[in-house]
Amino acid sequence: SSFAESGLPAKVLDCCKDFSKPSPIQSHAWPFLLEGRDFIGIAATGSGKTLAFGVPALMHILKIKSEKTSKKTVPRCLVLSPTRELAQQIEDVLSDAGTLPGIKSVCLYGGTSKGPQISSLKSGVDIVVGTPGRMKDLIEMGVCQLKDVSFVVLDEADRMLDMGFEPEVRSILNQTSSVRQMVMFSATWPLAVDQLAREFMDPNPVKV
Ligand code: AMP
Repeated sequence: SSFAESGLPAKVLDCCKDFSKPSPIQSHAWPFLLEGRDFIGIAATGSGKTLAFGVPALMHILKIKSEKTSKKTVPRCLVLSPTRELAQQIEDVLSDAGTLPGIKSVCLYGGTSKGPQISSLKSGVDIVVGTPGRMKDLIEMGVCQLKDVSFVVLDEADRMLDMGFEPEVRSILNQTSSVRQMVMFSATWPLAVDQLAREFMDPNPVKV
C-alpha cells in the first residue's frame, strides 16, 4: 500500500510524486494489471482511476519497447472515453506521466479539425486516447492504425453505451490486436456493458 512496495521503476512513479500513497483503486488494480490480467473497475471519477490504468499502461509499453528489436513508435495502448473533456483530462495525465519514460500520446476527438491530430499520429505515438466517433473516422481514413494495440481501456463504459457509441466501440475494438489486455471502468454495470465485457474480455477478469 505504498509506492515503494509497488516495485515500479522511479521513472514511472515520478507521476505520483505529489501523492502520499496509491489510492484504493490503484492498489487494487496495479498488481493484477502488471500481471497481465483483464480488469473491471466499478469506480467513479475522482478515485484516481486514470493512474490506476495509466501506470500499468506505461509499464506495458516500456516492456514492449524493451523487447522489440525494432523500436518503432506505433500505438500500443488505446483509451476510449465518452467525451472530449474526459478524453483530454486523461491524455493530460498520461502525457505528463509518460514524459520521463519517453512515452508519447495523442488525443483524438471530434468538433475540431483533423489536421493536427493526423500530424501527431504521423509523428508517432505510443498511446491513443480518443472518443469513439472521431477515432472511427480516422481509422476509416487509414491514418490511425490500431493493429499493434495490446492494452485497451474503456473508460466510463456505461456512459459510452448510453450515448449510443456501441457500434463504434465494437468496430474500434475489432481493429486492435487479438492478443490484448483489457481494462473497463464503469460507474454502473448494466446488461449491455456486461455483454461487451463478455465479448471482448478474458472469461475471468478481475472485478473490483
Ligand atoms: P481521477 O479519478 O483519475 O480523475 O483522479 C482524481 C484526482 O485524484 C486527480 O486530481 C488526481 O491527481 C488525484 N490522484 C490520483 N492518484 C492519487 C493518489 N494516489 N493520491 C492522491 N490523489 C490522487
